[in-house]
Amino acid sequence: MSHTHSYIFSQQENAEATLLVHILPALKDNYIYILQRQGGKECVVIDPGEAAPVADFLCENGLRLSAILLTHHHWDHVNGVAALLRDNAVPVYGFAGDAARLPRPDKPLEDGAVVEILGLDMQVIHVPGHTLGAILLHFPQAQIAFMGDTLFTMGCGRMFEGTAPVMWQSMQKITALPQETMLYSGHEYAAANAQFARHVMPGNALVRRRLALFDANDKAGIPNQPSRLADELVTNPFLQADEADLMQVVRAENGAECFGKLRAMKDNF
Ligand SMILES: [Zn+2]
Repeated sequence: MSHTHSYIFSQQENAEATLLVHILPALKDNYIYILQRQGGKECVVIDPGEAAPVADFLCENGLRLSAILLTHHHWDHVNGVAALLRDNAVPVYGFAGDAARLPRPDKPLEDGAVVEILGLDMQVIHVPGHTLGAILLHFPQAQIAFMGDTLFTMGCGRMFEGTAPVMWQSMQKITALPQETMLYSGHEYAAANAQFARHVMPGNALVRRRLALFDANDKAGIPNQPSRLADELVTNPFLQADEADLMQVVRAENGAECFGKLRAMKDNF
């Protein structure tokens, strides 16, 4: 994959917080993210599922890697770590509770911890469900967050290790983030997710508009990343499993049960 996409976020009251987020398509439909302070030569990488696109990007842009950040242990998010460490002596940040399954996490992260990355605060939020050790990485000053495979644009990750109540609780940690937060997820599944959302929320006009946009972006090779939390809150069924309309569609009594039934439906959609 040769193309990258850069987005600039600048908090008006704090220009120091300006970050570049470079989106690197990798493997079949993964995204690797590279964060760089504007004007700086230092960068960090999130979830390098393969090393080559990252190494090429560093070389082409004259950037120096200063850390590797991991959202969860799956191979398509960590397989590039070993090769990157051969050429870059940098720390690896990952969830302390899943250290045994992560490659060399020499900077173990606890739930709720705030650590400094590129001079900005990064808040660690434990979001079990896709895997029991999944975390999301929230940069409050830059108003961005990295979801790994816990939440996708208009969808969520498969529930490989958690139960419905556990993963529903993780969804509620996401909805509690500031609504203007821009969410970056680990795969390009937006159009398929929007088709499922249209199926379970047929009266939602915004869902249909987003589906049309995602189809057009897919044809043009433009990632459907990031997605604003405010948009997800009204179009992502997995964040609305406690809404009466959705509970009625799947005949559930509460949010956790509805979430589990939606997830099972999506698995077979
Ligand atoms: Zn995964």
